[in-house]
Amino acid sequence: MATITINKDNFCHNLNQIALKTGSINKIAIVLKDNAYGHGLEIMAQLASEFGIRHAVVKNRDEANVIRELFRTVLILGGQAVPDETCTYAINTLDDIEKAQKGSRVELKVDTGMHRNGIAIDDLDRALERIVDRELVLFGLMTHFRSADEPGSEFFWQKKQFEHVKTKVKAAGFTGFRMHSHNSAAILRSKSFEEDLVRVGIGAYGYNELPESFDKAELKPVLSLYARKMATKRLKKGDRIGYGGDFGVPCDMQVSTYDLGYGDGWCRGDSSQPYLTAEGLPVLGRVSMDFVSIASQKEVLCIMNDAQSAAKQFGTISYEITTALSPL
Ligand SMILES: *Cc1c(COP(=O)(O)O)cnc(C)c1O
Repeated sequence: MATITINKDNFCHNLNQIALKTGSINKIAIVLKDNAYGHGLEIMAQLASEFGIRHAVVKNRDEANVIRELFRTVLILGGQAVPDETCTYAINTLDDIEKAQKGSRVELKVDTGMHRNGIAIDDLDRALERIVDRELVLFGLMTHFRSADEPGSEFFWQKKQFEHVKTKVKAAGFTGFRMHSHNSAAILRSKSFEEDLVRVGIGAYGYNELPESFDKAELKPVLSLYARKMATKRLKKGDRIGYGGDFGVPCDMQVSTYDLGYGDGWCRGDSSQPYLTAEGLPVLGRVSMDFVSIASQKEVLCIMNDAQSAAKQFGTISYEITTALSPL
């Protein structure tokens, strides 16, 4: 079984970088959905809490139950809203309001352009009316940017839309709700920050997916992936390795089998463009469900210590690389 290690110092470093942007750690909500982007829900919640983070965001009730004791608020992005001392619920549709139990604390998500989740701006008045009728507590008002990581005016256009939404909700007589719209890319590109909270995921885990044209906060990857040696073989020139025999051994060499494969959530990739490990060693031949071959004799090999550079090799983004990793 491959292993994942978490670098606490790097995680704290990243949270500090983000706190410099928000002005306060009290304004950081750590996004822990999907097993903390593959890093491990419990450990990341623990570390965030030790650091002083008081707010978390998760995907569902099950995740919330694991970590709720560690935070003052836990925002659940989907599911039926019920009254709870710690958990609040994102409202994504008008139907979510109808299903919510009386007394639930809800955070109204408004669709300002992403067009996935959230109430359409045209339905805002109706949503606010129904929140009152159903005796829900409007705890927050939120939106999500579709282009925070891209240059251009879209980000500013969407921000403006959200400002307009805030004004409307205040004009409708609501007070005391928290407002948040920024994910990692949005806070990392912002020069000033005036909202109550950021919802930061990937940045806390050490990756900045903004293009080079933005000035970059120095973030450090938190997760490293290791594999253990299972066996070493002495192979002769012309031998072939793995399914399909894709890799032809060019000269006599020692090759070891390591315990990592796509069954662990590792990318199978394309054997004609072999993945290079953290130490620059190519994976030889096809990736199996549980094994890879590498010309090394080390007992434990660091396969990856930077998901962003791994992502470049596989033609994807850091999010997908870490989130795909199986819980260990
Ligand atoms: C996942 C998610 C985030 C975090 O995004 P990052 O890009 O990882 O910082 C923020 N808000 C919502 C609603 C999300 O679903």
